[in-house]
Amino acid sequence: MSDDLTLLCVHAHPDDESSSTGGVLRTYADAGVRTVLVTCTDGALGDSPDGVAPDAEHHEPGEVAAHRAEELRTASAILCVTRLEMLGFPDSGMEGWPQNEAPGSFWSTPVDVAAQRLLPILLEERPQVVVTYDANGFYGHPDHIQANRITVAALAASGLTATLLYTAIPKSAFKRFRTVLEEAGIEGPGSDGEDPPFGTPDEQIGIIVDVTDAADAKFDALSAHSSQTDDSFFLKMGRDKFRELFRREYFVRAQDPFGRTGVDDDLFAGWR
Ligand SMILES: [Zn+2]
Repeated sequence: MSDDLTLLCVHAHPDDESSSTGGVLRTYADAGVRTVLVTCTDGALGDSPDGVAPDAEHHEPGEVAAHRAEELRTASAILCVTRLEMLGFPDSGMEGWPQNEAPGSFWSTPVDVAAQRLLPILLEERPQVVVTYDANGFYGHPDHIQANRITVAALAASGLTATLLYTAIPKSAFKRFRTVLEEAGIEGPGSDGEDPPFGTPDEQIGIIVDVTDAADAKFDALSAHSSQTDDSFFLKMGRDKFRELFRREYFVRAQDPFGRTGVDDDLFAGWR
């Protein structure tokens, strides 16, 4: 029975839910699990719908935020998310941008203050499994790092017993991914020959979920974020390659009440 199981994912920007956990969100929703998505920022420092970059003069953060909220609602519907909560913190931009320190930005908000926004949702939902990024925010983006920090803080403050998982791409999967992109002549992370700021040693992966049946939904959810993804390697590779590359999602156990070891194939391992 999945009736009493709840999965809660904390993400930084609209579109992160689809790229990093679209597969599990849809897979577990299909299995009858309650799924809760918390998106921390408004994504106002992304590209505008007509492709205006955030550092351009006529970039309108308010319009971008409204558009991205709409995209997020569409993607959440595709992923069959039960409850979507947007915390609405102003996007802090990429590392080193002046907006990092803008008053009220997600990054500049003290962790305990921002965590207070997540805490009531945790207490209402009482999820068995919470998913976010690792302490490096998966790839170093300030808002992703902050998402990790407030999740850890709010979970501790909640007193809940939950499994806390971090999204991950194992190094072996990344190698495969790079080969496929190279063969297709598509630029993506690592195409410049540099190692990207992510990639987890395979032996640290604690859970691998088969999301084959949700791969199309994940592709569609990413497509729903067209203002950010139209030009992305995700969509350029096409549905077939995407399905092949994204049929699994990987997680590192950060807190596990059951002390499990080895590799599980279920986020709720130990809970059922
Ligand atoms: Zn993001």
